[in-house]
Amino acid sequence: MSERKQFRAIRGTRDILPPDSALWNWFERTAREVFESFNFREIRTPIFEDTSLFARSVGEETDIVSKEMFTFPTGEASMTDVMEVVHENIEFQPIPGASQGKQASLSADEMTAAIKAASLVSLRPEATASVVRAYIERGMHALPGSQKLYYVGPMFRRERPQKGRYRQFYQIGAEVLGPSDAPAIDAEVIEMLLVLFNRVGLTRTTLYVNSIGCKECRPKYVELLRDELRKVRDRLGADSQRRIETNPLRVLDSKLPEEQEIIATLPRISDHLCDACRDHFAKLKDELNLRGIAYQENWRLVRGLDYYTRTTFEVTAEGLGSQNAVCGGGRYDGLVELLGGPPTKGIGFAIGTDRAILSIQESGNLPKLPGLDVFVAWMGTECYPAAVAIARKLRDAGFAVELPPEEMKFKKSLGLADKLGARYALILGEDEVASGTYTLKRLADAEQKKLTEGELPEQLRSG
Ligand code: AMP
Repeated sequence: MSERKQFRAIRGTRDILPPDSALWNWFERTAREVFESFNFREIRTPIFEDTSLFARSVGEETDIVSKEMFTFPTGEASMTDVMEVVHENIEFQPIPGASQGKQASLSADEMTAAIKAASLVSLRPEATASVVRAYIERGMHALPGSQKLYYVGPMFRRERPQKGRYRQFYQIGAEVLGPSDAPAIDAEVIEMLLVLFNRVGLTRTTLYVNSIGCKECRPKYVELLRDELRKVRDRLGADSQRRIETNPLRVLDSKLPEEQEIIATLPRISDHLCDACRDHFAKLKDELNLRGIAYQENWRLVRGLDYYTRTTFEVTAEGLGSQNAVCGGGRYDGLVELLGGPPTKGIGFAIGTDRAILSIQESGNLPKLPGLDVFVAWMGTECYPAAVAIARKLRDAGFAVELPPEEMKFKKSLGLADKLGARYALILGEDEVASGTYTLKRLADAEQKKLTEGELPEQLRSG
């Protein structure tokens, strides 16, 4: 007996089915409308890019790059080729005292060379790197003013799946790239985000803001933080202990209850900003006040990606449990240069669509979305041509119409119309065809009217 495999969606991925997909479309459509009202325009970039693009921009030491990317070789190279390349680039050194076995040590440069030779690509874990790559490659810096771009689409991270955390998830993001780093840009980007959240009824949210300094003041603060962390090393968990050396700012992200008291005593970046950063942050807060935007300062908001400078922000929403961040963003003034472009300022954010939708669903504050308007209940094969014709006309007039492909008994037909949630059944039998009229039955209250073709659209629109 042959065993049949039951295929399932890959762990951490999921199907978005109707009617939820209508909610998703509405959310994305509203985002497009809001963003375009702020004069942002859509950019569509590929779903995979050179692995080294992400390594360089997001940062080698981040969780995203070091362990969460889906990476594969392209072109001629197979995985075996990649292993060979890695092999060729490794200098094998005997482990002192070990009788057998070899230790591979690969420097960052060697690894970069190996990856390059194998043409490794990764599914994008986020889209800012791609947008910046496109900005540089397509010479967008030569265009007038700032480039205000938005994107919509899936991202991929090999995270441990749980509620609100998936391996394929969706983001809607926006970026401003150009010559200016005026705090008004930061505030307008935040305003745009909150206008969207308001419009979709995502109102039980909190906005957190912080400044994490620039390349002048941050390194000094990071060193100070590292020194202080080394003093309390023994009282921290394994992850934080490792991060003292690799990325001390990330320790501030820790959610471990036993670390909270220690973290509260650490030096705060707000006390160590340079004059320019302090001024920028103060002006950002003025700009937010000017727009009537409520916020909370959170000195621990450092964000997990390497490229942020100065402004960082995050929005959390209710009803999501531990994964409650629905949007994260910040300024990344050095990123374009880091990726080989001209000096350029940048700021952006990414909304986690999965979580935003989840929060809207949990709130019960769902929009009324258009459904099926008309079910054409035709009877008798001689009526079928008229049914096809009226279905076409009503669809052209903008209504959603269901035309049964096979003849059905009248009762069954109306029963199905009801189950499908149609607003109206358009009854089309011998009498109607003979008199050139239609019987329109409103399913909510069974009110029935005989109408001519010309009268149908008005009645359908009226309710
Ligand atoms: P980040 O790109 O990490 O700043 O994330 C921006 C937003 O994307 C977060 O606030 C989340 O709402 C969402 N997000 C990030 N990772 C995931 C994931 N694995 N699953 C679902 N949403 C995510």
